[in-house]
Amino acid sequence: MKHSPDERGFFGKFGGAYIPEMLQANIEELRENYLRIMNSENFQQQFHKLMKDYVGRPSPLYYASRLSQHYGTNIYLKREDLNHTGSHKVNNTIGQILLAKELGKSRIIAETGAGQHGVATATVCALMGLQCVVYMGETDVKRQMPNVLRMQMLGATVVPAMSGNRTLKDAGNEALRDWISNPVDTYYLIGSVVGPHPFPDMVARFQSIISEEIRWQLKEQTGNGLPDYVLACIGGGSNAMGAFYHFIEDPSVKLVAVEAAGLGVDSGETAASIAKGTEGVIQGARTMLMQTDDGQIIEPYSISAGLDYPGIGPAHAHLHDIGREIVIDATDKEALDAAFQLTRLEGIIPALESAHALAGLAKMKFKSDDVVVVNISGRGDKDMDTYIKYMSK
Ligand SMILES: *Cc1c(COP(=O)(O)O)cnc(C)c1O
Repeated sequence: MKHSPDERGFFGKFGGAYIPEMLQANIEELRENYLRIMNSENFQQQFHKLMKDYVGRPSPLYYASRLSQHYGTNIYLKREDLNHTGSHKVNNTIGQILLAKELGKSRIIAETGAGQHGVATATVCALMGLQCVVYMGETDVKRQMPNVLRMQMLGATVVPAMSGNRTLKDAGNEALRDWISNPVDTYYLIGSVVGPHPFPDMVARFQSIISEEIRWQLKEQTGNGLPDYVLACIGGGSNAMGAFYHFIEDPSVKLVAVEAAGLGVDSGETAASIAKGTEGVIQGARTMLMQTDDGQIIEPYSISAGLDYPGIGPAHAHLHDIGREIVIDATDKEALDAAFQLTRLEGIIPALESAHALAGLAKMKFKSDDVVVVNISGRGDKDMDTYIKYMSK
């Protein structure tokens, strides 16, 4: 397909694999094998069986009539919040754990910020009986104790990263160090469409089940599989890429990604990597990221832990660059208001991340006969503390 990366993993000028010499062999093994394994009939069968019986797919595509009425258009919600473990993340971790097994790996490592990807990884390791080590910045370990306990209950070892300011970036460095030291038995399970090639392409393919389903579900419900708009929030960009994937080559479908503005794009407290970013290399890929003039990464901020990332997947940087993807942003407050709006109009409490996608609705101009799909990437249980605080204000 046109939007697949080239041989070296580039989407236009973005992507690639900027990795230390000592990681070349691991990445090469993956690059040489991932498409062959993923496309094999045996793999496809196992993947789709688990998607159905374990994750609970297909996730519903729900016509939100009261929300539609409010915005004077036709809004459908893709319910990734109903997946086992509560978000789209499990689509990717199931895919990669099957791949790791196929490659003969016995030990899985991952990095996590708020702990959502760590929990999704620990879940599939328990499912497959594989050893799991999750690196997490010490600051995050303290902030996200319930997820640390979940990972431990699932049998994972959580290793606090003690370097830097002890958050996601530092956990990532520790995970890479581990992978370099254990190249033979260990698989590094990345949680979004980020990192060196082939991770962005591989994760996009696993998450593309979202848009594959939207197409046939919309066709079933409306007679036409092509919506006018697809909206999704964007941290690293995996739920958005999954929701966009099978529409990229249909130019009538407008793809809208909503970044987290935090306290405001120009407040200095933001995670809007397209609005405030410049070109550079992060986690082994060339993309847009928030950095100082001398290339130091700027600590991002968003109320939503899953969007609190200083970069963006290279394929999104490219789609934005060529004008195929519209990128807008929503502040903490706009996201909170959108979360309460969905809850009161439809009885669905969304994740704070997904609330950013919903906040995008108020920023677009829709016609009364437009068909708009919003990807609800996750459920709000994990965000209840934040919601309760906001409610009592
Ligand atoms: C992790 C997470 C995100 C952000 O990650 P992407 O790779 O950008 O999708 C969004 N929504 C939820 C519910 C998450 O858990």
